[in-house]
Amino acid sequence: MRSSLPSYAVTVPFDDLLRANARYADDFALSGFDGIAHAGVGVVTCMDSRIDPLGLLGLGPGDAKILRNPGGRVTDQVLVALVLSVHLLNVDRILVMPHTRCAIASATEEQIRERVSESSGQDASWATFGVVADQEAALDDDVARVRSHPLIPDSVNVGGFLYDVDTGRLTRRA
Ligand SMILES: [Zn+2]
Repeated sequence: MRSSLPSYAVTVPFDDLLRANARYADDFALSGFDGIAHAGVGVVTCMDSRIDPLGLLGLGPGDAKILRNPGGRVTDQVLVALVLSVHLLNVDRILVMPHTRCAIASATEEQIRERVSESSGQDASWATFGVVADQEAALDDDVARVRSHPLIPDSVNVGGFLYDVDTGRLTRRA
């Protein structure tokens, strides 16, 4: 937050959220809670707002480590987080969980570049958005990346799952 901004510019776009947070903090029950994953669960999934990772697995705050990005891909940074999750934060089950009707898996890199260029009014031809041409193959690759990581032991269960955003159902694929 830059102090040179007029106060209305700093607060107005977030007012509703800050009011909601004040109510949340009034009933806050997680004070002093540790940061480990109590259900031993790690989830790699997409940023898509149709996905409620904790809810769809019957979990709640404190139960899982949730790692999200476009497409739910196992990136280098996700692997770093998974290694920390396994060794320091109690995770022993990892779900890699892309979903149906994912924008990143249903367009070409060029189409997304064009849409971002249109929206921004800037040239986006240089940008890489990591589209997925074959979602099943990408899931296989991502699960293999986790399973074969030298710092993720074989005792950790790793599975690939597809989440259906229209039915709420999770199906094991890898
Ligand atoms: Zn998605």
